[in-house]
Formats: sequence, structure tokens, C-alpha cells
Amino acid sequence: MADHYEVLGVSREATADEIKKSYRRLARDLHPDVNPSPEAEEQFKLVTHAYEVLSDPVKRQQYDLGPQQGFDGFGGGFGDFSDIFSTFFGGHSSSGPRSRRERGQDALLLLDVELADVVFGTSREIEIDTAVLCETCAGSCCQPGTSPETCSICGGAGVITRAVRSLLGNVMTQAPCGSCQGYGTVIAHPCTSCAGRGRVRARRTVAIDVPSGVDSGTRLHLPGSGEAGQAGGANGDLYFEVRVAQHDLFARSQDDLLCTVDVSMTDAILGTEFSIDGLDGESLTIEIKPGVQSADVITIKDRGITHLRGRGRGDVKVGVHVITPTKLSGKEKELIKSFAEGRKTEQPKIAPYQQGIFSKLKGRFF
Ligand SMILES: [Zn+2]
Ligand SMILES: [Zn+2]
Repeated sequence: MADHYEVLGVSREATADEIKKSYRRLARDLHPDVNPSPEAEEQFKLVTHAYEVLSDPVKRQQYDLGPQQGFDGFGGGFGDFSDIFSTFFGGHSSSGPRSRRERGQDALLLLDVELADVVFGTSREIEIDTAVLCETCAGSCCQPGTSPETCSICGGAGVITRAVRSLLGNVMTQAPCGSCQGYGTVIAHPCTSCAGRGRVRARRTVAIDVPSGVDSGTRLHLPGSGEAGQAGGANGDLYFEVRVAQHDLFARSQDDLLCTVDVSMTDAILGTEFSIDGLDGESLTIEIKPGVQSADVITIKDRGITHLRGRGRGDVKVGVHVITPTKLSGKEKELIKSFAEGRKTEQPKIAPYQQGIFSKLKGRFF
């Protein structure tokens, strides 16, 4: 069958007025009262039918969509079925124009911190590549001075309604308007800075407070710091997943900090006091009491990690490792021997199994 637009001699973008004018002109020439030839009569029927279709917005849209939309048989009819069903059962049948505005995506990034950073918490400035609002159009997507225009195909509804012949009889179905993608408006002059998206990719600096007590796997939530939304939509959220680096000397158990000190045999016997650098930036004084044993644990209260979102701190736990000398001078050997002479009563002997010794060792070395 001849194309209705060709029959009327108009373009597919022709306005209703142009269609009407063209039809009048053709009808004047072809009307049987004016032109009695059989060819003219046939042509007049075609022109009139074309005008009937193209002058009715609903029929014109239906015609524009092509014959597959008309449920003319079983092939390719499934799309129509879903429309029919959504019309009967709710679905999207009552949807109006949809908004161009869309919320930006959430983003999840890794944040590496040192163990010392989590003792009191820290703050960071991090550069991220993300989408930000387009400054040229401020999210309107249009070139400055222009604005979206009502879609001429759907009249701003964002949907087109068409009659579909189905097993259930004639039903009206709605589908998003293909001309405006369902927005109801078209942007004739898209902003050139953002290609009509209302947002651009950019590098942005984000300030983040890392609270004390966070551990690997803790997620920090920055609402509204994610990607800018499309067309001026709300920003997404930004999440940082914390990864706490292993420290060379200190390990962590909840909010306690664990370390080991090597103590010489004589210090273990006589006792001593010394300082090490704490992770909190201050020195830690460790008191070795006379007679300390290997695997003893010295607890220094409240010098560990500050609790997450709470007051108070964990402890520092110092595991003692007594070093037995392996090389002795002749004179040292004599002195130890004479020391041993005075303690003849102490012989090696089996002792009851003490789980504590092993668990302490395990605790020290994990
Ligand atoms: Zn723009
Ligand atoms: Zn439209």
C-alpha cells in the first residue's frame, strides 16, 4: 500500500496544518465532481484515507510506529500483549512524562590508612574522578538561553496512546513516546559542555573524617558526595571502605594494641624500666618486674585505640620474650656456675600441664 505521506506529498515531519493544506489542494483536483476519470477517483480514495489517518494524532502515531504495532497476527505481537496486560493490571499504563532528573550513582572506594591513624582518627582529602553538575547549564541540559520544548509528537504527555485490536477486543494501550524517550519534552539545543546530560566528568576533592577505632572493612558513608545526578538530579552517596595497613611492630586485637619486647635474662631476673615509642605519638614506659617470665603479658591501660564513636581507649599489651644468652665468656660462665651452685635444689622436673603458657604464646604471636 502506498505511503500515506507520499500520497499526500508531505514529509514525515509535516505539521497538521501542512497536511490539511496539502489534502485540500489534492482533493480540489481529484474530487469526482471535478475529475470524473476512474484513476482520479481511485487516487481520491487514497488521498482521503491518508488524510483520515494523518489528521488524527492517535492514528498518525499508530501509523508512524508501523504495522507491527497493530497486532495483525501472532508474529511480533508479544510486546503488545505486555502492553495490554499492563493496561488491565495496572502496569505503566497511567504513566505520564518521566523526569530527566535522575539521582547520581553511589560510589564505593577503598581508603588505606595506617594503624596509627585509627588511634585517634584522622582526616583526609581525597581526589576522586566523578560526575559533577555542569556549570554551563546548571543541570538544565540546554544551551544557556534555551529551554526544553514540549514534544510535538506526544504533546508533552511522554506517552502515546494507541488502539490495539486484540483477542480481548479493542484496547487502548500506552507506550513511552519514541520521539522524546518519554520525557514529554525535547531539547532542541543541548548544552555543548555536557552534551545535554547536565553533568560532566571531573576530578573533585573530598574531605573525609576517619573516626578513631575504624577497622578494615568499616564503611564510611558520605551522603550526597557521590556522582552528580543526570539533569540536575540529586547526588549519589559516597562510601569509603577502610583498609588498615599492617604495622611492623604493633598488631591489633579489637582496640588493644599488641607488641613484644625482648628482655635479657639479667633484666628479667633483676627487673628494669624502659621506654618505647607508642603508636599514639608518646613514649610508653614499660616496667619489667624482677622475675618476669617469658610470655608474661604486661598491660598498659588506656594507651590503645580510641573506641569507635565512644569514649575511652583500649590497652597496650606487651608480651615479654626473655632472651637466654647463647654465648658466654669464660668469666661469665664461672659466675653463672657459682650462681647455680647456690641453687642446687632447683632441678628440672615435669610440671602439670598449663594451658595458660601455650595460650599466652599463641596470643603473643597469633
Ligand atoms: Zn551543560
Ligand atoms: Zn514525545
